[in-house]
Amino acid sequence: MASEAPKPTSEAPPAEQKPAAAPANSEGTPQEELNPDGTPLSDKQRRKRAEKAEKERIKAEKAARLAAEQAARQAADVDFATENYGTLPMNQSQERKNLQLFSIADISPEKDGEQVTLHARLQTSRAPSAKLAFFTLRQNINCVQATLAQAPEKVSRQMVKWATSITPESIVQVEGTITKVPKPIESASVTVKDAEIKISKIFVTVPVTWDGQVPFYVDDATRSDAEIEASQDTPRPLPPIALDTRLDNRVLDLRTPTNQAIFRLSHGVCRLFREFLENNGFIEIHTPKLQGAATESGASVFKVDYFKGKAFLAQSPQLGKQMAISADFGRVFEIGPVFRAEDSNTNRHMTEFTGLDLEMAFKEHYHEVSDLLNELFFFIFTELPKRYGAEIATVKRQYPSEDFLVPEKPVNLNFKEAIQMLRDAGYEVGDLDDLSTETERALGKLVRDKYQTDFYMLDKFPLDIRPFYTMPDPTDNKYSNSYDFFMRGQEILSGAQRVHDAKFLEERLAAANIPVSAMQGYVDAFRLGAPPHAGGGIGLERVLMLYLGLGNIRRASMFPRDPKRLEP
Ligand code: ATP
Repeated sequence: MASEAPKPTSEAPPAEQKPAAAPANSEGTPQEELNPDGTPLSDKQRRKRAEKAEKERIKAEKAARLAAEQAARQAADVDFATENYGTLPMNQSQERKNLQLFSIADISPEKDGEQVTLHARLQTSRAPSAKLAFFTLRQNINCVQATLAQAPEKVSRQMVKWATSITPESIVQVEGTITKVPKPIESASVTVKDAEIKISKIFVTVPVTWDGQVPFYVDDATRSDAEIEASQDTPRPLPPIALDTRLDNRVLDLRTPTNQAIFRLSHGVCRLFREFLENNGFIEIHTPKLQGAATESGASVFKVDYFKGKAFLAQSPQLGKQMAISADFGRVFEIGPVFRAEDSNTNRHMTEFTGLDLEMAFKEHYHEVSDLLNELFFFIFTELPKRYGAEIATVKRQYPSEDFLVPEKPVNLNFKEAIQMLRDAGYEVGDLDDLSTETERALGKLVRDKYQTDFYMLDKFPLDIRPFYTMPDPTDNKYSNSYDFFMRGQEILSGAQRVHDAKFLEERLAAANIPVSAMQGYVDAFRLGAPPHAGGGIGLERVLMLYLGLGNIRRASMFPRDPKRLEP
């Protein structure tokens, strides 16, 4: 049907259109052109007709060229990559495709050319041109560079533009190819230095819907003080981020590779503590955190409403774990919260921390327990770098510190010896004085210089500075069978042989002005006959802070609680 035949437009005449030619006769030889009256054309007429035909040919050619150019322009603007990017619908567990996801930690140049799909946080994006964009993708402590470059039929101009507009911290699903890079990637935040991902598809799976700009960028929150300081005289000074700002926005802060590493190490310390004790015949117990009486020290205990009366939050699992010993569990440990109502605004105190506690019946001497504690710490200090080397290295990039010095064999000092060392160094300290923060740290330095160690035990503390349940030293009752352990000159463990004799316990309670009635259940446990035992309590966050040189205990607590902070 004629009406369906494509009609050439004025801008786009068919390229094949030819100038008017003499019609052919039945044999195919051109017929001579004639005037309407049948006379042959003159030479001039022929020339004119040829010129006109040539002009029309040139005009048609130009029109065809313009039409082709316009068609190409239109084609370039058609987004051919719409299937390769976009925001996915909210996951409502619509389907299970058995998606195979790749770990950034497993990316290496040896895998050059491998096609992978991964889920990651989009940490940063940068677009040097409309055709090219660079991203940093993050999974926990690992970051990789990813590039998106315009490519015919695969990556459109619109796709690059859209991808660079993704809000940082969105979760993306990226498909791409692992590609070896010719020279190491310089960016400090990228951990995979010798390979990158060439993106072919990118989707937002979880967008960030924060109103306005996020409080800080994870990239910035991962920088060391030295890096920030060095940038101050450059055209792009880096913003320092205060600890309070971080803690106010802790979820964002916790996403930094440094914090990802710190809390994996926190888990590591607990895991090694548990592993060592399980291997040594201990069982894990759970003692109550709600108590009916303010037991060990009334001053530092939180009082809470308890129906019509009052209850107190446990300031240690001390009583529960000792009663478990009297109940014949022999060797027990607990990892749990400890509450202290102390208005101490220091860099090593919190109102709630995690206690790593243990208690153990011994055969003859409390040094069986202090020896086991030494072994426990040596196990932790040996295994942490072996099992968590990448995490330790990650923390050190932001918080550089000297390696933690562990001696060949345990360094156990006597309290009297420590006092003498301090006096020799010019400190005025009384025989039976407790160590102050200052003398504790000074002693740490003296011990480090003398014994090349950041870890040691101090034994035989004066009796009067220890709690009522501490067993006095039988050779000199001004002292006691008690010990503290120190890391980098700060206390991380307190422990002792406990009074297991009920009569003697009552005497010690009386000496401490604590009525037996206030602790009846506890005292009764010993009337039933408890084996001699000793134990200790360790502060998890202190261990972590000191091992890693974090400078403030709050950095070692996921959601720290102190006199001024109860949120988030
Ligand atoms: P300090 O003298 O340092 O205040 P403490 O003598 O009160 O400590 P203990 O009651 O013996 O400490 O607690 C045992 C361990 O618990 C300590 O060695 C420390 O590691 C940790 N710890 C104690 N108090 C706190 C606190 N307020 N915040 C964090 N950790 C703590």
